Amino acid sequence: MSTDAVAKRIQPVRPAPNVYDAEPIPEAARAEIDRLLASGDLFRYTAPEGAPVARLEAEFAEYMGVRYALAVSSCSAALFLALRALDLQPGAKVLVPAFTFAAVPSAVVHANCVPVLVEVGEDLRIDMADFRAKLADGAQAALISHMRGHTSDMDAIMAACDALGVPVIEDAAHSLGTRWDGRKIGTIGKIGCFSFQSYKLVNAGEGGMFITDDPEIAARAVIMSGAYEHNWKKHPGLQNSFHLWQNKLPLYNMRMQNLSAAVIRPQIPLIEDRVASGRANHDYVAARLGASPWMAVPPALAKEERAPDSLQFLLRGFDSDEEARAFQAAADRRGVSVQVFGLSRDNARAFWNWQFLGDLPELPKTRAMLMRAGDLRLPARLKRGDLDFIADALLAAAAEVKDG
Ligand SMILES: *Cc1c(COP(=O)(O)O)cnc(C)c1O
Repeated sequence: MSTDAVAKRIQPVRPAPNVYDAEPIPEAARAEIDRLLASGDLFRYTAPEGAPVARLEAEFAEYMGVRYALAVSSCSAALFLALRALDLQPGAKVLVPAFTFAAVPSAVVHANCVPVLVEVGEDLRIDMADFRAKLADGAQAALISHMRGHTSDMDAIMAACDALGVPVIEDAAHSLGTRWDGRKIGTIGKIGCFSFQSYKLVNAGEGGMFITDDPEIAARAVIMSGAYEHNWKKHPGLQNSFHLWQNKLPLYNMRMQNLSAAVIRPQIPLIEDRVASGRANHDYVAARLGASPWMAVPPALAKEERAPDSLQFLLRGFDSDEEARAFQAAADRRGVSVQVFGLSRDNARAFWNWQFLGDLPELPKTRAMLMRAGDLRLPARLKRGDLDFIADALLAAAAEVKDG
């Protein structure tokens, strides 16, 4: 046996953890999916009552502690319906953090409104001075994207918006299970929107949820989501509001179908466990990276209880893009691929790539953050050995570039 082979037997190389796979679908979904396939009952409004989508809405509303939940085809659809349900006039200015996913300003454009991008600081949170200035400049709604699950100062945001009577929509696509001052994220603004796209805490491939306590907003959203004719009778409560809006609103057909609900429902009872494991995994890796002078993980705000399934960190003292790229390459060689938002071409989270908006503002704080913020998926199912593998790789990569 060659010395190489002996070394391999003594020290087996641990494979890099797979962080890309989505959450597996619970076995319990199968029987219901088989039943739906056998009956062909896939449309949410066919059954007189008890359709899987309607049950999911009731269960989600109960989990969130809100009066109304509407299941839709994606979080982007929920954001669009939220803007339409608020009856914003064409051309209305809507504040959006400049650190978000391209689909968020796109939903604003889709609703015929104008996104106003707000600076985000190196703590990955909304810059409140810029927010207040742009709010005072005639904004008619604020769409607060809790990007990568990072919660901005919701007390400050709500106080500023309430003072001017400006409604807040929460994009909680990536914040299911996060709390602010004990309250569930998505229930603080007038409307909360969630995603069940595969890379979120609950995986249905695609899907979204719209929640609110406001009966008029709920009724408008239900009709516009595609409850044509009298299908709204299959949504509990709200009957007077529905009569008011019947035939007065366009039907955008953004409904969820029963198969998606069958995939989502058995995952609802798993949310709290996934949140606890995700948070423990995140905090473990964050503490290990904190030992390096070259990386900083933004801490949670005092009132924030996070539910992370990914980790973001700032590269510190990396003066050039070349150095940051060398770090990425060094981590890659160790089996861990780190995205730096601003360094990859055509990144959908880098605001300068949102050319569909026309003239883009210069946002130096957000740009500086994006050029040095590393992004890493950290799904709840990872084990301690996986987490150490990732932390070891990042620490060694940073040391290789900065300490030589
Ligand atoms: C994923 C995501 C979206 C889009 O969700 P879809 O369901 O894919 O439309 C919007 N905002 C944030 C913060 C997201 O993470």
